[in-house]
Amino acid sequence: MATKLSRWICPNACGGVLAPSRPRKDDVRRYCLPCSAKIGRLVERIAPALEAKRKIARERGAVKAKKKAEGARAKWMVARIDAERYMKRLALLPVYGGRKGEVWQRINDPRFQLVIERGTRGRRKLGHCTGWEIKLHTTPGWGESTLREVLMHELMHIRVLPKRGKERITNLFGQGRRRVRTVQYHTPEFHRKMVVAWRQSIRRFGEPNGSGPVGKWQRETVAAAIASM
Ligand SMILES: [Zn+2]
Ligand SMILES: [Zn+2]
Repeated sequence: MATKLSRWICPNACGGVLAPSRPRKDDVRRYCLPCSAKIGRLVERIAPALEAKRKIARERGAVKAKKKAEGARAKWMVARIDAERYMKRLALLPVYGGRKGEVWQRINDPRFQLVIERGTRGRRKLGHCTGWEIKLHTTPGWGESTLREVLMHELMHIRVLPKRGKERITNLFGQGRRRVRTVQYHTPEFHRKMVVAWRQSIRRFGEPNGSGPVGKWQRETVAAAIASM
């Protein structure tokens, strides 16, 4: 089988030769010898047809790599937003304590997980945070505003620790009374900081697009944030 030959030309336009597309390293056809002799260094010939083909292949490879990268991010997409990246942008709002703060450190710890649960019907809670995991209970109805609210809320649970509430005495039917310790997650500090978070997020990213389900406090919190701007 005959090797298909390509035209290799000298960059100084002094003619060319036919050679295989991958000539051996020491193949003299790789070089323009008259030009090399003139300047004292090897002058390499180029094969324009091959260069063009390689350029197309490179571009195709880049498109493929981009598609592959996008495919890998697909699992993070919520409301057409990359929720994982969005979370990281929100976590850098000053209210969360910056790069040295607990929140940024936590979400960048390999043990931390963002979990996106996709449901068709809404759940009682839009999200959940255990400290090492933030879970979003998404539905197709989620817009950016839902995503922002839930992420900021769950990140705030890392920032603001729960407070032990008052001991309550509850009545157990027929079994006397029992002391119960209550834990308050949504403390006044939590709400105050959520107002600040909304204010900072609106300043930095503008008001979120899209509607969708909102949490119990979003309307109030956003109104307070806008009023304080
Ligand atoms: Zn030459
Ligand atoms: Zn909460």
